[in-house]
Parts: sequence; structure tokens; C-alpha cells
Amino acid sequence: MSRNTNPAVVVILVLTVVFWLSGAVVGRAQTAATAETVTIDGVSYPVPEPWQGHKMEGPSWLSVPPLVPVPKKHVANNGELYLLPAAEHAFAVMAAKAEQDGIYLVIDSAYRSVSYQRKVYHRQMEEGKTFAQVARYVAPPGYSEHMLGLAVDFSPSDWRFARTPAYQWLKKHAAQFGFRETYPESRPDHQPWEPSHWRYIGGN
Ligand SMILES: [Zn+2]
Repeated sequence: MSRNTNPAVVVILVLTVVFWLSGAVVGRAQTAATAETVTIDGVSYPVPEPWQGHKMEGPSWLSVPPLVPVPKKHVANNGELYLLPAAEHAFAVMAAKAEQDGIYLVIDSAYRSVSYQRKVYHRQMEEGKTFAQVARYVAPPGYSEHMLGLAVDFSPSDWRFARTPAYQWLKKHAAQFGFRETYPESRPDHQPWEPSHWRYIGGN
């Protein structure tokens, strides 16, 4: 019976097994090589605990995403900030609804590139901080949701935002516009709480 087995079928079976094995090996190697270190000014640093395993995946790794500006009246200090079109549209609709409720949503930050994030580290380490000290509060390059063009930091972009009426309004209404607080007060992985940081998830 086995003599009648179609050789093409055997070749396909062998190729499938080889492909599967090589894929498994390459997959493991990539995870080990890319997940745990970042490079700042040519020096490699291990990615510390809260960020480990939270590297961002997305098209922005390959290219700058197609961004659109956030209306200036919603940007602190009249600055220029950008988001992906779907996130910007949802943000504008949400901000208009908030305004009807007497809440003015203003953001300090939106899209930030990986190289921008690297510059933040460079600057703070030049001022004398260690990599670990910076990483306590700032996502390492490649680990920030801001590189996806989907996340915003409301103003003031620190713990004080949790005390604002805008924060209370977002807690109640942001989900219906597709926004979620992605670094909330209590997380199982002990990521620092960032009440001002919200990400567009969509789905509405
Ligand atoms: Zn943020």
C-alpha cells in the first residue's frame, strides 16, 4: 500500500513539518532577542519588570502611521499633536459631548515615535538619572502605547488628573466613544497608575 503513496503528498508532508519546526525555532529566537532589552545611545539595557512582556506590536514598527492633527482647542499650549484618523475622530466626538456637559478635554500628548521616546531617555539620563530610574515612570522606547497613534495623555498629565471633573466624566462616558484607561489604579502586573493616559480601543 505504501508504495502507492503519491510522492507529492510525502514531499508536502515533509515540507510542512520542516516549515513548522523552523517557524517554532525562529519564533522563540525572536521573542528572546527582542522582548527584553532596549538600546539607548548604543548601550543595551534589560527592560525592567513593569514593562517586560508589554512591547507594542503594530504597523508603526514598520512605518510612521498616517496621522491627522488633533484640533488645537483640545491641545495644551496650542501645541501640535497627532493621532490615527479613527482615534482623532472618536476623540473629537467625545470632546464635543463633554463640552455639552461643561467639561473641556485638553491633552498634553498623543502620538510619540519610538525615536522620540528614546530622546526622552537620552535627555533624562544626561541629567544624571539611571536607566532604571527613568523606566520607573517612562515607558522604554517600543513599549509606549503612544507610538500606536491611539493614546492620549489628558492635561495635567500626572496623578493630579485623577482629581479633576474631566477624569470623573471620562470614567463614566469614555467607553461609549471607544476610549479606555489602560494604566488604571490597580493592575495585576503592577504597571504604574496613569489616570491621564487613555487609549482608543474602538468597537463602538
Ligand atoms: Zn500616556
